Amino acid sequence: MEKIVSLCKRRGFIFQSSEIYGGLNGFWDFGPLGVELKKNLKDFWWRRNVRERDDMEGMDGSIIMNRAVWKASGHEETFSDPMVDCKECHSRNRADQLPEKNGEKYCPNCGSRKLTEPRDFNLMFKSHAGPLESDDNLVYLRPETAQAIFVNFRNVLDTSRQKLPFGIAQIGKAFRNEINPRNYIFRSREFEQMEIEYFCRPEDGMRLTDYWLEERLKFYEDIGIPRSKIKIHDIPDGDRAFYSKKTYDLEYEFPFGVSELEGIAYRTDYDLGKHIEHSGKPLDYFDEATKERLVPHVVEPSAGVDRTTLALLCEAFDEETVTDEKGHSETRTVLRFHPRMAPIKCAVLPLLKNKPPLVEKARAVASSLKPLMNVFYDEAGAIGRRYRRQDEAGTPFCVTIDFDTIGENGPEKQDTVTLRHRDSMQQERIALADLKAYLLERIL
Ligand code: ATP
Repeated sequence: MEKIVSLCKRRGFIFQSSEIYGGLNGFWDFGPLGVELKKNLKDFWWRRNVRERDDMEGMDGSIIMNRAVWKASGHEETFSDPMVDCKECHSRNRADQLPEKNGEKYCPNCGSRKLTEPRDFNLMFKSHAGPLESDDNLVYLRPETAQAIFVNFRNVLDTSRQKLPFGIAQIGKAFRNEINPRNYIFRSREFEQMEIEYFCRPEDGMRLTDYWLEERLKFYEDIGIPRSKIKIHDIPDGDRAFYSKKTYDLEYEFPFGVSELEGIAYRTDYDLGKHIEHSGKPLDYFDEATKERLVPHVVEPSAGVDRTTLALLCEAFDEETVTDEKGHSETRTVLRFHPRMAPIKCAVLPLLKNKPPLVEKARAVASSLKPLMNVFYDEAGAIGRRYRRQDEAGTPFCVTIDFDTIGENGPEKQDTVTLRHRDSMQQERIALADLKAYLLERIL
């Protein structure tokens, strides 16, 4: 983990939030490479789950909503974790995450066994809408994106003309005042979620939960996280939320242990039912075929952008020993991202920076690719060193413009380039005319 954290800082994936002021626990900033990685993940999720499907609509709800939403959903009452205080060092910890020795829990900070009884701590951040700080205008930063979907169920249904089963998908920020943010970006206080509420007839709920489990496993495979690295935890009766008939947690083998990436929960009609009860509005569905009104059931695949980004980094990170032509061995650090996820798709490198025809040609090649993908132009340093820099950024392809390209060694090699592959370090010659199609086929 230390190596990954240090690479992420060094190469501009992830920085501590407000770093120059000492940071802020539980908050992170994504740098130039990190933002591209995260964006690729979100764009692909959106493409798979919204654009490529006829039975899905997208939406983007506000982060701050009427407090009544959180009363109805139960978050105001019960969205809490049990916490205990250490009577010696006054550190505050989650009761269910305390270390234990000989059956007795102790403080992870100072080791003391003098702990207070657990108390519930609500994880929602509070603020006030408007200039008055009164209870009347108390608002919360949303702790999940899902509720915006439930309260818009009717709006989306009426404007989209979908029929059951259909889903509504959303990507957005969520905030939880976690008692102990930890494991880098795994548990933070501000994060992003990618959530689907898939509405269906009650008799289809169980089957569709298994359907979504399979869809989501395929998704992870398609971004470079193999099934063998994902543990499916079928939450047993008694451990699930009381309204859920089935819940799968998808867990990834992080370096710090197997931990949750995503939850897929069959939530029955609990959420719509609660909003019908509290708002008095008819959030039900009229089935034209059976002429029956019903409150749809819902299956919710809820994934974390930040946790998946961390899984992508962990899965991609590799160090290998390579030997150059002169017999020198060195360690090559390489991020083996799936090309679809890689922050930079292609680096364009003129062999020498002091040869204007090479530079001109390389700039022209880079410009022609830029509208289609994230391209990095680099002319500084020896070519081997430039390749290594791209290996660390996870760039799957490097294109080198040399004297052959500009026709100095005869017309048959003119307008061909060296294409260098990150994983194998193999190089091949490819015609510039074929480059775009070659790259697009691999990054889409
Ligand atoms: P945990 O048990 O780890 O606190 P959870 O079961 O409360 O997670 P959900 O409420 O199911 O999480 O949220 C859905 C997804 O949102 C999680 O699977 C995770 O990917 C993401 N998520 C939740 N809390 C955090 C957090 N504090 N930091 C980053 N991502 C989070």
